Amino acid sequence: MLLQNKEVAIVGGGPGGLTLARLLQLKGANVKVYERDESRDVRVQGATLDLHFESGLKAIEKAGLLDAFKANYRPDNDRYRVVDKKATIFYDDHDKESTSDFGDESFRPEIDRGPLRNILLDSLQPDTVVWDSHIVSLEKIDDTWKIIFQNGNTAFADIVIGADGANSKIRPVVTPIKPFYSGATYLVGNIEDSEKNAPKIHSLLKGGKISAMGDSKTIFVSAKGDGSMDFYIGWKATADWVKESGIDFKNAEQILEWFKKEYASWDNIWLELFNHKNTQFIPRPLYCMPLDQHWEPQSNITLLGDAAHLLPPNGEGVNTAMLDALDLSEILTSGKFADLKPAIAYYEEKMFARFVEEGKETIDMIDWMYSPNGLKEMVKTLNQLPN
Ligand SMILES: Cc1cc2nc3c(=O)[nH]c(=O)nc-3n(C[C@H](O)[C@H](O)[C@H](O)COP(=O)(O)OP(=O)(O)OC[C@H]3O[C@@H](n4cnc5c(N)ncnc54)[C@H](O)[C@@H]3O)c2cc1C
Repeated sequence: MLLQNKEVAIVGGGPGGLTLARLLQLKGANVKVYERDESRDVRVQGATLDLHFESGLKAIEKAGLLDAFKANYRPDNDRYRVVDKKATIFYDDHDKESTSDFGDESFRPEIDRGPLRNILLDSLQPDTVVWDSHIVSLEKIDDTWKIIFQNGNTAFADIVIGADGANSKIRPVVTPIKPFYSGATYLVGNIEDSEKNAPKIHSLLKGGKISAMGDSKTIFVSAKGDGSMDFYIGWKATADWVKESGIDFKNAEQILEWFKKEYASWDNIWLELFNHKNTQFIPRPLYCMPLDQHWEPQSNITLLGDAAHLLPPNGEGVNTAMLDALDLSEILTSGKFADLKPAIAYYEEKMFARFVEEGKETIDMIDWMYSPNGLKEMVKTLNQLPN
């Protein structure tokens, strides 16, 4: 196979990188994952997400991890409410009978990011992940990559796969193309013990998800298995809003003052998002890669997931990263290609084609979601979905 006697370095231990590591190890490849986090538990993993039949779930199944997934997913966590800025409910599927299950194309089981990451980490051979490996640059020496880490360490690899997310350090080695700002910004936070710390929103949430929409603004809330809730406050902002706002994002009072002005016509229930002293607020301007992007394939380096095709959150990002991993692992180990370069070219063409479709829908979605008709459009879209 193409990877015989080769060292593969996967940069980034997110869902895409870890899925690729597992799938390649199943085929006998020699793989290391270099992850900047200092250890497995140093960071609380983000919100719950759903895996899709044709992408995330397919990769989990091919990775031999469906039983582990079934033991960790959260039935009924996909229950959904859409409300307006006054928290009046416009769409609610809590009482709908669930008719789909594993094996059905429409079944999209929810899992928290932490357990998903653990399933993937536990499936890898010991010492596959090299923690505390924040990559700062790559140097090509003949046909080998020298990988340079922030902590002064170095490593060598024959093939590098950049799975290091939105601000990829590997991307500039593959392409000069840069992400552009989508026009919308999120303010992200988590509230521990939401029943105690945000009781009104907790009871509206009912263990599922809420989208609140109004005045071309959004608030998304989702319940996590540890009793906390994640939220994303979204609105249209300038690209430099984070700097220009002058807000110290470690100062909850300053953020609350901003929210009261920006969301002045919204109900007081949303102020509960700012009640808890341990909440850390992270502003995230949302970026995308250009939909017509294309680059010349190289023989021993490529990208997957957000590093390759960043988009604003659309419910597909983890799924697509895992599907990239599945495609790439199959292409590199199928025996159909005599050389790495055409194999990588074939993988990248598939990825570009998928991205055009997904990207158009996402940019469309950002447009309608942050329009004055966002709520109406959201309800219409949900009413068209199969049960
Ligand atoms: C607010 C928000 C909500 C979202 N909701 C959903 C959702 O509901 N469903 C969904 O499918 N997707 C969702 N997404 C998108 C999803 O998070 C991403 O598309 C997905 O995580 C991409 O996976 P990845 O493996 O490519 O990259 P990432 O998950 O970003 O993982 C990259 C990894 O690389 C590491 N890393 C980064 N830089 C370096 C470096 N220099 N050296 C070494 N390691 C490095 C990081 O620590 C991380 O572990 C959401 C995104 C956001 C921002």
